[in-house]
Amino acid sequence: MTAPITQDVLTIPRKLPETGRANIVGLTRDQLREALIAAGTPEKQARMRVGQIWQWVYHWGVRDFALMTNLAKDYRALLAEKFEISVPEVVTRQVSEDGTRKYLLRIAGGHEVEAVYIPEENRGTLCVSSQVGCTLTCSFCHTGTQKLVRNLTAGEIVGQILLARDDLGEWPEPGAPKDETRLVSNVVLMGMGEPLYNFDAVRDAMRVTMDGEGLSLSRRRITLSTSGVVPEIAKTAEEIGCQLAISFHATTDAVRDVLVPINRKWNIETLLNALRDYPKLSNSERITFEYVMLDGINDSDEDARRLVKLIRGIPAKINLIPFNEWPGAPYKRSSWERIEKFADIIYKAGYASPIRTPRGEDIMAACGQLKSATERGRKSKAQVEAEARV
Ligand code: SAH
Ligand code: SF4
Repeated sequence: MTAPITQDVLTIPRKLPETGRANIVGLTRDQLREALIAAGTPEKQARMRVGQIWQWVYHWGVRDFALMTNLAKDYRALLAEKFEISVPEVVTRQVSEDGTRKYLLRIAGGHEVEAVYIPEENRGTLCVSSQVGCTLTCSFCHTGTQKLVRNLTAGEIVGQILLARDDLGEWPEPGAPKDETRLVSNVVLMGMGEPLYNFDAVRDAMRVTMDGEGLSLSRRRITLSTSGVVPEIAKTAEEIGCQLAISFHATTDAVRDVLVPINRKWNIETLLNALRDYPKLSNSERITFEYVMLDGINDSDEDARRLVKLIRGIPAKINLIPFNEWPGAPYKRSSWERIEKFADIIYKAGYASPIRTPRGEDIMAACGQLKSATERGRKSKAQVEAEARV
């Protein structure tokens, strides 16, 4: 591993100050409207005020009510008394050799989560977290070795996008010509946590992100990844309508039970049945099946053939993820030869089978490597190993 190019360590207080003011970031239109009325905004004006405030916050990146010059001075003062516009604090930012940026963020209560920005030729993807830790215990995942500490709020989820735009200098300059190329052009819910176990906050955050007057990212540019929380899948289609990725990772229940233990609750057949309706319900094209390549565990030719058989009839693409190792990980990455052979079988069966290039490996920013360094309540090494036995 090579050393990261830069690492800034910012010194900030361990605990965010509790202001008692409501955070505007992450409130849906309706929630903000109600909050403004409760704060004394005349009902007739409330809708318009939401639009104005949203434009300042999400279009211009403004965090200070005093700068909202199209609002009356005493109204700005009222807002500042009752509300705040806050995003998680960046504790450290690491920049990889390949341009990937990993942010360690501190949220209320002193907890820490990570977000990762991945620049590519024609897009920039921000990978956001939805929980501190995870209740699930997928045996190959670093986050899975950390207990769930708490769910993120919608504001903390949207806040990750805002602070990435801050760091990338992406807010427009007043008067500058409109620039259609966006640095954060895509968002993936693939950081720490299981987004469908924090459904309401994720839904509200994505609504703000997708709204034309919010962050204005198309739902086609948002991908939610789930380990397979079956009862929430139809709701995701109806209430969010974003792209869906499934952490599939195995082709038999015996192996999936170990790799993705939620399979013991909703097995492969139940999961696939829930997926069949997703594209129609959400009006999206294809479901992405994520498949982590683990040496000798799930990477045989037989697995590849079984995989294509299983997903027959579901519009799909299969994203092969070379396993990203982490200290103490109980598995090894499959060889490139094996991954290519596996990809070939899938491709010949008529499915796109891109192999995900690991990004930001030098700063442990790749898929499944995120874990806050400070949380207590980790599992022991012996427990991790015992759970990994297939
Ligand atoms: N909890 C959600 C989203 C976060 S994980 C989910 O499980 O889908 C994002 C993706 O990275 C998932 O497909 C996950 O299975 C995969 N992943 C986790 N650990 C990994 C690792 N060490 N190497 C490669 N991929 C990993
Ligand atoms: Fe949680 Fe996803 Fe990691 Fe499984 S792969 S432990 S669901 S974050």
